[in-house]
Amino acid sequence: MNNLLEAHSISKKFGDFTALNNVSISVPKGSIFGLLGPNGAGKTTLIRVINQITMPDTGHVILDGEPLQPHHVQYIGYLPEERGLYKSMKVGEQALYLAQLKGLSKAEAKKRLEYWFERLEIGDWWNKKIQELSKGMAQKIQFVVTVLHEPKLLIFDEPFSGFDPINANLIKDEILRLKENGATVIFSTHRMESVEELCDHIALIHKSNKILDGRLTDIKRQYKTNTFEVGIKTAD
Ligand code: ADP
Repeated sequence: MNNLLEAHSISKKFGDFTALNNVSISVPKGSIFGLLGPNGAGKTTLIRVINQITMPDTGHVILDGEPLQPHHVQYIGYLPEERGLYKSMKVGEQALYLAQLKGLSKAEAKKRLEYWFERLEIGDWWNKKIQELSKGMAQKIQFVVTVLHEPKLLIFDEPFSGFDPINANLIKDEILRLKENGATVIFSTHRMESVEELCDHIALIHKSNKILDGRLTDIKRQYKTNTFEVGIKTAD
């Protein structure tokens, strides 16, 4: 099986509004797969279906050859766009708590957290309260907690929003390194530049529909640069 994840014919309505209309994607193992589209296109809804937070009306998801099941949550690291940290807890305490929810022992979680906090220059914040953090620092902590249990599938929803360019580049480098170490990554964005920098494959989602998908190099060749740019801009 070359695809780590396949979503087949996913549709979802909220009341009369169709958020996803028969959308299918195939995410090759070891790839970085970009879900590209403007705000409101349906990207988060698709991600929430994959994470079993939203039940689709039709369609199904296959993870590593098996129909998606509750225990698959352990194989997925999900960084939602809405960040949720308990403001009154200390950074270290909170990170340890979240890491243990993902099945790590306290000792292992502490070891991995120390490694990651040093890598991303969060070390000094261990004993500070979450409410003292800048938005970017809080995002870094959520990023660490998402990758800490080394899931085979990582899903990042708009991972660079709220970061300054230096920290956005730091996170981009980390995502590339995670891929080199064998992870498969799906990330959602409305920014074409992020997709060009990181992705092997993309799906363009627009108004609840998938407009096109495939290898980024093939799509660029097929559409030549101008038409491709126009296509993306239309969607933006
Ligand atoms: P994207 O991630 O591409 O910005 P979303 O999947 O978040 O898009 O949203 C697609 C559309 O579905 C939006 O118009 C949004 O308002 C709507 N939507 C998403 N979740 C719900 C919900 N729980 N109830 C009603 N409408 C929703």
